[in-house]
Amino acid sequence: MALKIVAELCTACGDCEPVCPTESIYPHKGLFAIKEDSCTECEGDFETPQCLDVCMEDDCIVPA
Ligand code: SF4
Ligand code: SF4
Repeated sequence: MALKIVAELCTACGDCEPVCPTESIYPHKGLFAIKEDSCTECEGDFETPQCLDVCMEDDCIVPA
């Protein structure tokens, strides 16, 4: 289980990168991406996915 960033909707604001408890978000091709092998959907750390909570773009972060 993991989330992914929809490149077409990402504005590269960078808000999601520092809030990830597993350091799964990284700069990629001028935008940001999520490492699917380490994203836990924040289970065990937070009640809700933190990247999803801070991202202002609708439907930009979705199930991988
Ligand atoms: S859901 Fe949580 S663990 Fe996965 S990328 Fe977003 S902040 Fe990181
Ligand atoms: S918060 Fe959303 S728009 Fe901003 S870099 Fe992350 S995925 Fe892209």
